[in-house]
Amino acid sequence: MSKTETHHFQAEIQQLLNIVIHSLYTDKEIFARELISNAADACEKLRFQQTSGKAIHQSEVAPLIAITTDDKAGTITITDTGVGMTHGEIVENLGTIAHSGTKAFLKQLAEEKQPDVSLIGQFGVGFYSAFMVARRVTVLSRSFDPEEQGWQWTSEGMGGYELTPADDVPRGTKITLELKDEAKEFAEGSTIEQIIKRYSSFVPVPIELNGTRLNTVQAIWARSKNEIKEEEYNEFYTFVGHDHEKPLFRLHFSADAPLTIQALLFVPPKNFETMGMGRIDSEVNLYCRKILIQAKAKGLFPEWLRFLKGVVDSEDLPLNISRETMQDTSLMQKLNKVLTGRFLKFLDEQSEKDPEAYEKFYREYQRFLKEGIVTDFTHKEALGKLLRFESSAMENGKLTSLADYVKRMPEEQKEVFCLLTPNRAAAESSPYFEVFRERKFEVLFLHDPWDEFVVEHLHTFEGKPVKLAEKADLNLTETNKEGALSEEAAKSLSQWLKETLGDKVGEVRISNRLVNSPAVVMDPDKFMTASMRRMMKAMSRDTEGVGAVKHDLEINPAHPIMSRLEAIRQSDSNLAATVAEQVLDNARVAAGLLEDPRTMLNRLNQLLEKVLAK
Ligand code: ADP
Ligand code: MG
Repeated sequence: MSKTETHHFQAEIQQLLNIVIHSLYTDKEIFARELISNAADACEKLRFQQTSGKAIHQSEVAPLIAITTDDKAGTITITDTGVGMTHGEIVENLGTIAHSGTKAFLKQLAEEKQPDVSLIGQFGVGFYSAFMVARRVTVLSRSFDPEEQGWQWTSEGMGGYELTPADDVPRGTKITLELKDEAKEFAEGSTIEQIIKRYSSFVPVPIELNGTRLNTVQAIWARSKNEIKEEEYNEFYTFVGHDHEKPLFRLHFSADAPLTIQALLFVPPKNFETMGMGRIDSEVNLYCRKILIQAKAKGLFPEWLRFLKGVVDSEDLPLNISRETMQDTSLMQKLNKVLTGRFLKFLDEQSEKDPEAYEKFYREYQRFLKEGIVTDFTHKEALGKLLRFESSAMENGKLTSLADYVKRMPEEQKEVFCLLTPNRAAAESSPYFEVFRERKFEVLFLHDPWDEFVVEHLHTFEGKPVKLAEKADLNLTETNKEGALSEEAAKSLSQWLKETLGDKVGEVRISNRLVNSPAVVMDPDKFMTASMRRMMKAMSRDTEGVGAVKHDLEINPAHPIMSRLEAIRQSDSNLAATVAEQVLDNARVAAGLLEDPRTMLNRLNQLLEKVLAK
């Protein structure tokens, strides 16, 4: 009587398998890396179970990954003595989506002509890479739990898999690949040996190939820095990062106080969140004396450092701590604080030592640092130092730090000024910039929509208030009197403007901050900025509410538009009124407040007609 169960793959897994099976991807050898990595994980999980004192089936059997190849039969078999899987675990892990990564990976693959499957491990679906080279995969597995029994899983990758109870299975997992004709090379020991050397020399579990021991186990992070070669570090990154490129930064350090820590951390060359992967998870594994306590440990670093990969080893961790409660312990919080502080210090040092590399890092990861400033009060100071912005004192495209900005500040300047615009050209021609240019005060040009929140949360830097330019309380040192309206004329023009524009403006005033622009709008609320208004307006449908506040209009009495407006306002009141409205709208455009410029097209056309008629 057959007890075989037939299961279907979940739709996304099947979709993934279709791509993997038909992939023309050339580096098919990565399947070996993925399966060995799973075998190693299983062995490390077993070590952990042993240290926590659980009853273990065949507890005397040591961790081992044994690989055998059979070139006559065209098969390769990878066996491990790890934790194995129960019936439930097999169903959950090999056929359903275990990770949110599956969808993101599918999306990325769909966008490519020749899909790069090598990132499969990054997306948490490495197991399925077996189907790049195998026409049939058989998994024999028995859990470490003495109460469980063995199971056999078989699949050809299409439709689903069969699951059958299996007797006399030793603890752990044995995966047999019946290779496709075009992948028969992987049934040769020498080929596999090369691959293992390339990808898996840091696997912390002994590996045997056809009966011969291959690697020596070495915890690279526990070795002394000057003994380790660059290639070894890079190989280790390939192993922990599932990434064949070189890391952007590497930090290897040890500390004795307040905690004993050895850490080896990497910044990947690419920000995976911008690659359509959605939110990534931290991939820093936590060890205690070289024993894996938790892979992808939660809470070890703040969320905004989730791009880090690597290893943290601390002797101060109790070995028998349960993985579930770990996240909450005060020890974890201490580790988090020390590690984060050290990493931010490292970034700061790096920005001095190798500004080019730092800038590359910054362009890739700035959003994470900004997220840190906005969400995490603890490291605000250190994060502030790491920010970089364009600035009026720098060439186009060059970035400056706040610290350097502060060093350049003239003595009479008390605040750090920022101007938020979509690009540099808009900043340089902004009416809000004029007073700064005249006073020779440097302004940081911010172009990322997140920057407004960053400025708001940063609040101060090195004791200096950080302010948006539109909120600056600054006057020109010298006002341009030439051709300017007399004070009296300017006052009466202001009054007339207020009468003419009526409800469309708050106050109309004479400005003391304009050089080249005829007018500027100012928010009557000291704490409100144009982009905050925009956002509030977008959030509420109430067009009379806070978002739709009446801005004050400040006019430049030295601007020709103002003197001519004053001259014609009585003789040609229609034209004057049209010009007044256009001046207001132009000021709104400059402030980024006019959502739909189409509304002023009629008026502009009228004005053009008048100009041409002259
Ligand atoms: P990931 O390793 O990122 O979780 P995989 O697709 O490689 O994704 O593996 C899916 C899951 O299947 C693993 O998380 C693990 O629970 C289980 N698994 C795979 N191989 C083994 C193995 N050799 N022993 C025990 N469990 C395994
Ligand atoms: Mg895996």
